[in-house]
Amino acid sequence: MAANIPVLDGQNPVFIPGPTNIPDRLRLAMSIQTTDHRAPDFVELLAPLLADLKKVFKTRTGQVITFPASGTGGWEAAVTNTLSPGDKVLVARFGMFSHRWIDLCQRHKLDVEIIDCAWGDGAPAERYGERLAADRNREIKAVLVTHNETATGVRSDIAAVRRAMDAAGHPAMLYVDCVSSLASMDFRMDEWGVDLAVSGSQKGFMLATGMAIVGVSQKALEACATAQCPRCFFDFRDMAQANGKGGFPYTPPLQIMYGLRESLDMLLDEGLDNVFARHFRIAEGIRQAIGAWGLDLCATRRALYSDTVSAIYVPEGFDSDALTNHAFDSYGVSFGVGLGKMAGKAFRIGHLGSMTDVMALSGLATLEMAMRDLDYPVELGSGTAAAQEYYRATSTVAHSAAA
Ligand SMILES: *Cc1c(COP(=O)(O)O)cnc(C)c1O
Repeated sequence: MAANIPVLDGQNPVFIPGPTNIPDRLRLAMSIQTTDHRAPDFVELLAPLLADLKKVFKTRTGQVITFPASGTGGWEAAVTNTLSPGDKVLVARFGMFSHRWIDLCQRHKLDVEIIDCAWGDGAPAERYGERLAADRNREIKAVLVTHNETATGVRSDIAAVRRAMDAAGHPAMLYVDCVSSLASMDFRMDEWGVDLAVSGSQKGFMLATGMAIVGVSQKALEACATAQCPRCFFDFRDMAQANGKGGFPYTPPLQIMYGLRESLDMLLDEGLDNVFARHFRIAEGIRQAIGAWGLDLCATRRALYSDTVSAIYVPEGFDSDALTNHAFDSYGVSFGVGLGKMAGKAFRIGHLGSMTDVMALSGLATLEMAMRDLDYPVELGSGTAAAQEYYRATSTVAHSAAA
């Protein structure tokens, strides 16, 4: 590694799509001495925390349940609390995260019916609808959708999947992975009729990894009574009961919870609509840069573009892993590698959570240096200038909401 890398300073932002940059305000909030989680101040922390999380999920009728885990634990909690081995679930695969969720379902002995789509496409509402309409015996218990496929930078239309389910008159529950979209892009649990919405602490919430955050509908809570998948640590009923009394069934991740209090304050103070608008604007500037470089997004059309992560194909004959490695080795900046089928072919820019237009420009400028070093047919400054023009034209007021 070259000598001039300030990696250890932690001054360079990361441009990976999670874990995301942690604002100082949240690092300080998480830096607390141990307190007794059975003392009254924990009780006072917990109830408003869970209530404010409901605002982020946009649910009034549902409930939010958290576990010490990562997003993957949230998947497991959603599935094991509501389904039984042998239950049929319908799920589209269009990237590494939808693929991993399928793997988790299969290991829990669910009967997984997969709709395979091209990587770069989104969830095919019509195909979900066709399968559901054909399921006359109502064997499909769950419909699984990845809202934001982090491997390909694709956002899917959850409302359209819900409409397809309703049009088929199908009673299956809707499970949505919103790990890399919640608190960064619009998500409407109640309006979209989502029964299980899975997220985590280390993406839009800008915190350390360590908490799975799951939105649960009343229908999903009722399903716990009959679901036969083995569970103990992740049992919704134990957690909901303990939460109701102001506690946890085991030791809570205290530091993350204090961080989450502060994170919710930041998000709600900025206003969710402003948070989403900020993510759109940053993402759009990055997309202008990608266009100016003459490179292509994995996402196949505009409606699918994610505002939290962009996956970008490298030109024929180049290796995206060499680019991400070089950016890190020479400039101390991390970008996302291509995952699964995208390995070597695409790199990713994570632009969610604590991110500003100015931070984004530093990432684009760094990529240009790395691409030039590796003889990409890209001019220094070309993409950065396109992003600068967009940010100039759309700047409202200098603010430090994400600082
Ligand atoms: C990050 C992520 C997950 C969960 O990953 P963990 O590492 O377990 O937190 C799941 N789905 C998507 C779409 C993600 O981006």
